[in-house]
Amino acid sequence: MSLGSVPLKYRIQIDRQQCMQCMRCVDNCSYGVFREEDDGNILIDSRKCTACHRCISMCPRDAINLSERPVDYRSHPLWTPEAREDVINQSRSGRIVLAGMGNAKDYPIIYDRLVLDACQVTNPSIDPLREPMELRTYLGQKPSKLDIRKQENGDFELNTKLSPNLELQTPIMIGHMSYGAISLNAQLSLAKAAAKTGTYMGTGEGGLHKDIYPYQDNMIVQVASGRFGVDINYLERGAAIEIKIGQGAKPGIGGHLPGEKVCTDVSCTRMIPAGSDAISPAPHHDIYSIEDLAQLVRGLKEATEWKKPVFVKIAAVHNVAAVAAGIARSSADAVVIDGFRGGTGASPKVFRDNVGIPIEAAVASVDQKLNDQGIRNKVSVIASGGIRNSADIAKSIALGADAVYIGTAALISMGCRVCGNCYRGLCPWGIATQREDLVSRLDPEVESEHVANLINSWTLELSELMGAAGINSIESLRGNRSRLRGYMLDEGTLDVLQVKPVGA
Ligand code: SF4
Ligand code: SF4
Repeated sequence: MSLGSVPLKYRIQIDRQQCMQCMRCVDNCSYGVFREEDDGNILIDSRKCTACHRCISMCPRDAINLSERPVDYRSHPLWTPEAREDVINQSRSGRIVLAGMGNAKDYPIIYDRLVLDACQVTNPSIDPLREPMELRTYLGQKPSKLDIRKQENGDFELNTKLSPNLELQTPIMIGHMSYGAISLNAQLSLAKAAAKTGTYMGTGEGGLHKDIYPYQDNMIVQVASGRFGVDINYLERGAAIEIKIGQGAKPGIGGHLPGEKVCTDVSCTRMIPAGSDAISPAPHHDIYSIEDLAQLVRGLKEATEWKKPVFVKIAAVHNVAAVAAGIARSSADAVVIDGFRGGTGASPKVFRDNVGIPIEAAVASVDQKLNDQGIRNKVSVIASGGIRNSADIAKSIALGADAVYIGTAALISMGCRVCGNCYRGLCPWGIATQREDLVSRLDPEVESEHVANLINSWTLELSELMGAAGINSIESLRGNRSRLRGYMLDEGTLDVLQVKPVGA
């Protein structure tokens, strides 16, 4: 510690009466908090603690105690401890402050100020245990009308050519987290979970590792500005293709995977030299307009014989509805909107916490704009960025989404404790790391079960919520704002959401 550094964030203590000196905390802490001394004692350096909780989970004696912020600052309403710490850290380093996971600022969460409707006496609720509930979701373009003709033999024939759609057994998908940002075991766990639950997951921009090939029918392959791992084989393997323009945790900037995370295997999958930084530039250098985007969409469709839906992912920002309407006209099949609470492996903290808009407002305004322009059927809408539970999913769909991507929630189900240190590559849970000893801590069989359980339980809850609202099909919930009321939301926000206040 140097003079002038910030106070400890966390204090780790060991109850020496309980401790049996098994050294599991020493072995499990990748941040170096614990060290075994020559005399067998354990030395603690609390300054290195990130509150990842690995030691606490592994201690067989519950001997470890972690407390937050034992030293307090003089209180000040403007100069919060965090504001002061950022100034101190940046004045020492002269660098951009990086942060992992999602926006950590205390903005109001709109989801928590929306309440769902429930049936009472005038319209009956539905019991999902006894009545069929339809949660199957199709993502892609839908025809504005169907041309069905009766044949001479009495059979009916569909004469409308349907666009390729993805069929999901639940409106919950797993978002794009690349191999490189997360480990192969983490990706395998997610891919197995997607296959088990009849849904899809994104590759992120890291290419498709050969160990994931068995799950390729449940993968959406991403094309980001760096074009890492992109070739015809990659495009053909995915069930759908997603062009990434922006990301909720860092709108307007590109991606950066530091060279130390580019191990041999990552380098082969990404098609870049081992040990070199993988930098996706902020813009796609062939996209400067909706026309350019349309060319890329059509190019990808042409390359895959028009058999796969193409999604376009953007960050939720100002005028997102106009941008989404342009994307709908580019012949893309779905627009993915990533809100400003979206997670990430690494983002400049100033971006993560200050750029973008909430997903709730973005989805509602996009759905409204597409409806106003009569093109809602031309594109599916996928919401992501800060989905925490099944109620968030129900509210997203009622605001106009067809489906959602979950990211951080899936990582939490695999062990992640949201310590926010993904960018350091030392994740003790074997998730956001490429260090082999750490990666091997994560068992894809076990963790895929956890992720699948999460998706299944949220799907069950979703059908219960729909049943309570008297709705038996996810189609009927989509954009159904009459099932929502705003509580403690200002008039302007209610107007954007197109939701009435409580009591109305
Ligand atoms: S894991 Fe628990 S019991 Fe084992 S050495 Fe650490 S504190 Fe002691
Ligand atoms: S993935 Fe790992 S490093 Fe990142 S927040 Fe979760 S526990 Fe921390």
